[in-house]
Amino acid sequence: MIIGAMNSPKNSLVGEINLFGEMGFDYFELTVEAPAATPEKILKDRKVILDALHSYNFGVLSHYPWYFSVAHPYENVQKSINEEFGRAFAAAASLGAKKATIHTEWMPPGIQERPVMVAKTIENVKKLHKSASEHGLELLIENFGHSSFSIKDFKVLFSELGISMTFDVGHAAKHDGEGVDNYLQEFRKRIRHVHLHDNNKKEDQHLPLGAGRIDMAHVVKELKSFYDGTITLEVHSEDRHYLKASRDKLEILWYGKEHHERNKEYLFPEKK
Ligand SMILES: [Zn+2]
Repeated sequence: MIIGAMNSPKNSLVGEINLFGEMGFDYFELTVEAPAATPEKILKDRKVILDALHSYNFGVLSHYPWYFSVAHPYENVQKSINEEFGRAFAAAASLGAKKATIHTEWMPPGIQERPVMVAKTIENVKKLHKSASEHGLELLIENFGHSSFSIKDFKVLFSELGISMTFDVGHAAKHDGEGVDNYLQEFRKRIRHVHLHDNNKKEDQHLPLGAGRIDMAHVVKELKSFYDGTITLEVHSEDRHYLKASRDKLEILWYGKEHHERNKEYLFPEKK
């Protein structure tokens, strides 16, 4: 298991890379997102961004705005969004990203009949899968909640398209999330990446681990039973030290306290 963090799109990318590097994270999840991390800005600053990534030996995963529709009711609007996805895929690939996480539809379900929204999502995710592949990216789809795309809908999608998913623990635990255990029961073979953050099991709060009501010890035990991949801490606290605290917490839950203490010595050897 390796632990990563995601840039806040409000901040400079290089600043975020340096912050996570100093905190001892293992990789960088790049959200290609306005205002500070648009495809244009990434391509313009590519060299300094790559230098910063290399200085911490960071591999890169990519992530795209949750508010990019994948089942927009207007065909021309969806076409423009897909073009923007294409530009974002190219920018992420130029930094060496290998995986690309997109979200299911976010617009209120009343806007379109549900079967129409589900069919549109599937049709469009097929297009995005092709476009991502052309940039050497593996497309992953992330769970949001029942009102967006349910476990039942994911099953239909996966029966038509052989892609994998980014499992977001906080989203599964919130009021319409359908539950962490239900996702793990259905999709453990599909999970290729994990987002971890805490909440009050109602709202999508992106809290530090332990600050909400999700039973993290249980989540880690379940994940460990079949998964040994990337876990990004999607903690959105203004005080970024909570990211580091969440990283320590996850390591302790996953490996035990003793291993965690040894790891710290490895990362920061005492000067003799
Ligand atoms: Zn997420």
